[in-house]
Amino acid sequence: MANTVKDAIRRGRKTVETVVEEGRKKVEGVVEGGLDTVETVVEVGLNTVETVVVKGRRTVETAVHQGRKTVENVLFHGRGTMQAAILHGREDVRIEQVPVPKAEVGELILRVGAALTCGTDLKVFRRGYHARMIVPPALFGHELAGTVVEAGEGVADFASGDRVVALNSAPCGKCYFCSRGQENLCDDLLFNNGAYAEFIRIPSRIVAKNTLHVPDNVPLEHAALTEPLACAVHGFEDSHPRKGDIVAVIGGGPLGLMILHVAALAGYETIAIVKHEGQVEAAYQLGATHVVHDSSIRKAIRETRALTPNDRGVDIAIEAVGQPDAWQEAVELVRKGGTVNFFGGCAANTHVTLDTNRIHYSDITLRATFHHTPAICRKALALIAGEHFQASAFITGRAHLYELNRVFEKLMNRSSEIKTAIVP
Ligand SMILES: [Zn+2]
Ligand SMILES: [Zn+2]
Repeated sequence: MANTVKDAIRRGRKTVETVVEEGRKKVEGVVEGGLDTVETVVEVGLNTVETVVVKGRRTVETAVHQGRKTVENVLFHGRGTMQAAILHGREDVRIEQVPVPKAEVGELILRVGAALTCGTDLKVFRRGYHARMIVPPALFGHELAGTVVEAGEGVADFASGDRVVALNSAPCGKCYFCSRGQENLCDDLLFNNGAYAEFIRIPSRIVAKNTLHVPDNVPLEHAALTEPLACAVHGFEDSHPRKGDIVAVIGGGPLGLMILHVAALAGYETIAIVKHEGQVEAAYQLGATHVVHDSSIRKAIRETRALTPNDRGVDIAIEAVGQPDAWQEAVELVRKGGTVNFFGGCAANTHVTLDTNRIHYSDITLRATFHHTPAICRKALALIAGEHFQASAFITGRAHLYELNRVFEKLMNRSSEIKTAIVP
């Protein structure tokens, strides 16, 4: 009896255990399949949500873009006057209400996205004029990028809403110099000013020859660097660097730093010679191999030569200050057979004294580079759109149009500012 009962209990327990075990397996099976199902559903759901979000974002972006275009057009077409900086004379720039320009045949009107301050503008602000580029009273500012708000009759390459950079000049394409590929020396170089304003008119010749579409990934503020960078690239290429050359750049202003950066990106060993403490860090950040920071020219020459094998001097010295004593310094920096580029424009009627023996017996090449050509402007914008050029490093401040005077005063006081973006 006892055996029968025990036996029955054991069998009963086994049955229960089997049932429990199988039940657990079934539950686990269901849960597992269920989890997969849930995960699949969640995943599909997420994908759907992401697609919707991406599509939604695109729609929103398109809407924003079109909205902006519409708003800009309304702002433009609804306006009779605009705010613009007018240069009246020495250290006399006023923000005034002037008529909004209209696009004639072949012209464009841009809503200025960003206008950058420049050493040339600072010189003009100090002197009150620029013999070749600007005679007051005149609209002022020349480094800009913006959005097209009106395209004149016959403009085929640009339409309302396009983001563009318009250069400050365009060559005639017909004179002796243009025919020799030296468009920077064109007998009839057409200059355009008026970047420090809400809108700017781009003359037809600049529209046809020197206005470029800005790639989507490039902010307008960066695209506005095309003009000074074109000058820098031109100056560097004109110095005919050869692999392995040591390149010294005198001057830590915007253009000195740009030439330095261009040389560093091209893989050259560089020496930056700067005057102000604040420029040392910027020079290193932009790729200087060495920075010579000395108040005395004599010391700077000694220190720079000491950085070259046997103190022989650098292969190329580019002067980017625009002072006669810096021109003379550049000649003292190069090795036998070296090249000097007088890149910085000095004030009118200044002269330099050069050691004729040194230049002749050391076989030194002296050259100078002015301005840019359409081909080089395209190279400059491509460099900005590339991944290595540090555009943001050159824009150290932002200000509104009505702060322009204050900005120039600050730049005259030699702060560590490189360029300020004026956002009208
Ligand atoms: Zn400039
Ligand atoms: Zn020409």
